[in-house]
Amino acid sequence: MSFHPEAVIDLSALTHNADVARRAAPNSKLMAVIKADAYGHGMLAVAQALSSVDGFAVARLEEAIKLRQAGIDKIILVLTGFSSQADLEQFCAYDLDAVIHSEYQVELLHSADVSTPISAWLKINTGMNRLGVDASAVPRLYDALQLSGKLRLPVKLMTHLACADDMNSSSTTSQISVFDEATLGLNGEQSIANSAGLLGWKHAQRHWVRPGIMLYGASPFCDSTASDDHLLPVMTLKSRVLSIRTVRKSGCVGYGSTWQANRTSLIAIVAIGYGDGYPRHAVTGTPVLVAGQVAPLVGCVSMDSITVDISQCNNVRVGDEVVLWGRGLPIEEVAEKSGTISYELLCGITHRVSRSIR
Ligand code: PLP
Repeated sequence: MSFHPEAVIDLSALTHNADVARRAAPNSKLMAVIKADAYGHGMLAVAQALSSVDGFAVARLEEAIKLRQAGIDKIILVLTGFSSQADLEQFCAYDLDAVIHSEYQVELLHSADVSTPISAWLKINTGMNRLGVDASAVPRLYDALQLSGKLRLPVKLMTHLACADDMNSSSTTSQISVFDEATLGLNGEQSIANSAGLLGWKHAQRHWVRPGIMLYGASPFCDSTASDDHLLPVMTLKSRVLSIRTVRKSGCVGYGSTWQANRTSLIAIVAIGYGDGYPRHAVTGTPVLVAGQVAPLVGCVSMDSITVDISQCNNVRVGDEVVLWGRGLPIEEVAEKSGTISYELLCGITHRVSRSIR
């Protein structure tokens, strides 16, 4: 038995979550967002398992090429698009879809050589102020792209929502209005919704929806857990109890001696740390599932280990299984105690954690 951490990837949970997305947006095509190695789950395995979706979105050209080279033949959208003539040649060679999010790219395309027409999505800034062209420039840029002779027509239209995770925010409706005004009379297919937009804002469901986090079984909303939306965790991060020690009253645990026992305590040392991607900022009290029993993390997270107070647990032994998040322990609870979001935890699993597909 290995005492090393392991990320168990449950592909049946992934396809279940894709079905949830499909049922929630029955009239939209599904573009699964699988950037950052499918949010840490393994991009190729995820793409191969998601045979029912209509396309994939990635952040970088290299990710898209890897998918094509592995035989993925669906639409692949590169969310950052192209930034040189050399990039454009790859878009043609691998038949990739490009997001055009800046005037810089429109000009680049204008002066570029393109061997075959490219599929392009014009991204509009509707209030997030990250990537996207100004709404007021859309008629001019859309016409320029349509007339460029270098794109498959019609050009598609998209935007990205900043606050869809907060059902009380007014910014989503306002972003949708800006999008609708900017695209009035243009006939390309549209896409607005990420996971939160898809589940929470029906009006954001257009020809395409672009779910990411919900496919991996984490909640896209700031104040709920995945089970509220019938999602199942895809990654379960596991390790084992490496050692158990008794710490007397007033004894301290870990770097900086930040935790002090207020009674004689039984402490499990678990083989996982920030070197594996467990969050360094997880506070005392962060839940950990030790041999099926919830127990609090105590003291500082180290590079290779964490310490858990198992005084209230029954019969824990060296070698027992520990779940850090996933089946039995919602990742949102760990993220909240660590001052972060589930996305960062999932993407942060390091290479020394073995991944096994179930
Ligand atoms: N669309 C774009 C442009 C994105 O950048 C992302 C993720 O960051 C998504 C869709 C998917 O978002 P989520 O994981 O919240 O569903």
